[in-house]
Amino acid sequence: LYVAEPISAGAMTRLDGGAAHYLVQVMRIRPGDPVKLFDDRSGEWLGIARDVQKRSLTLEVTDHLRERERVPDFWLVMAPIKKGRIDWMVEKACELGVARVVPVLTRRTVVDKLKHDRLTAHAIEAAEQCDRTALPEIADPVKLTALLKGWPEGRTLFFADEEGGAPALETMRARPGPAAVIIGPEGGFDAEERAAIKALPQAVGISLGPRILRADTAAAAATSLWMAAAGD
Ligand code: SAM
Repeated sequence: LYVAEPISAGAMTRLDGGAAHYLVQVMRIRPGDPVKLFDDRSGEWLGIARDVQKRSLTLEVTDHLRERERVPDFWLVMAPIKKGRIDWMVEKACELGVARVVPVLTRRTVVDKLKHDRLTAHAIEAAEQCDRTALPEIADPVKLTALLKGWPEGRTLFFADEEGGAPALETMRARPGPAAVIIGPEGGFDAEERAAIKALPQAVGISLGPRILRADTAAAAATSLWMAAAGD
C-alpha cells in the first residue's frame, strides 16, 4: 500500500477513503492483520491493523522490511495518446521499472489535457500490484522543441523510429548509462520533428521490428528491451 506521508517506526497511519475501503471491504483486513506499506522514500514497512472500522483503520508501523528499490535510470518519453491507452502505458511503465514518464506534445498529438493525478493514481496502483517500493515520476507535458532544447548532456535518447533505426537490443547494449526512449503519437512524428530528434547529439534511432506498432505497444516493447539490455 502506498502512503503519501513519510513512514517511520512506531508511527500510527490513519487511513480512510479508497485505501481503507480496499483493505477493510475487499481484503477483509481485521485488527492485528499485517499490511505492507511504502512511501516512495524509505522503502517498505510492516503495518499492523488497529481500530478497524467500516471505512477507516489505523496502521501501526512496526518493522522496516526493505530499503527503497534502486530504480533503473530510464525515462519513457511518449506523445500522449487516447485516454485509456495512456493509462495503460503508465501502468506498464511502472511495472517495467521506469523512473520517469515524460508526456511530449507533438504536432500530431491528439491529447493535450493530461490529468496528472489520474496518471499518478494509475502508477500507484501498478506499483502496489507489482510490489515496487518506488513510484515513477509523472512529468508535466512538454513541447518537443523544449524537450530537445533542454535535453540532459549525459542521457541517451533512443528514438523509436518505424521508418528506420538500428535493431533495438544491440543498439541499446552498445550504449549503457542513463537513457530514455521517445515514442511518437498515433500519427507518428512529422518530417520536421523527425529531423529535430535526429539532430540531437544524444539521439540514436532504433527499430522495434518490421511491423508498425501502436504507440502503447512500442512503449512497452522499447522499455522491456532497454531493461533487458541494461540487465535491470
Ligand atoms: N508512422 C506510423 C504509421 O504509419 O502508422 C504511426 C506511428 S506509430 C503508430 C506510433 C509510434 O510508435 C511511432 O512514432 C514510433 O515511435 C513507434 N513505433 C511503431 N512501430 C515501430 C517500429 N517498428 N520501430 C520503431 N518504432 C516504432
